[in-house]
Amino acid sequence: MCIFCDIIDKKIPSTAVYENDDVYCFRDINPVAPTHVLVVPKKHYEDILDLASKEDADKVLGEVSRAISKVAEIDNLGEGFRVINNCREFGGQTVKHIHFHVIGGLKLTEKMI
Ligand code: AMP
Ligand code: ZN
Repeated sequence: MCIFCDIIDKKIPSTAVYENDDVYCFRDINPVAPTHVLVVPKKHYEDILDLASKEDADKVLGEVSRAISKVAEIDNLGEGFRVINNCREFGGQTVKHIHFHVIGGLKLTEKMI
């Protein structure tokens, strides 16, 4: 179906950080910081607008927030980190399966907002 579905199904290898029935968290192949983990709902939604239109949006976003907290614990990000969701073409999304970048492990100084 898509590259992240294949990663979730273990047809493509990845470095797992945390996994449960609803989400899979793995290291980005092209990291921009010491921690760069992708938090990905296992069910395929194209993007945040697609997810928001679905009945299970609240549950999925709850699972995403709990998974982010697990990743932060595993990678010792207690001092802080950034979560980024790129949505559609103007947001710079390249993989059309919703995912949240968790970036940290250093003090992030460059801020767009
Ligand atoms: P985005 O540009 O927000 O859609 O993010 C897609 C991310 O997926 C990029 O940061 C890529 O480096 C990452 N990526 C693409 N293919 C893989 C892969 N096979 N394993 C891990 N990360 C990947
Ligand atoms: Zn997918």
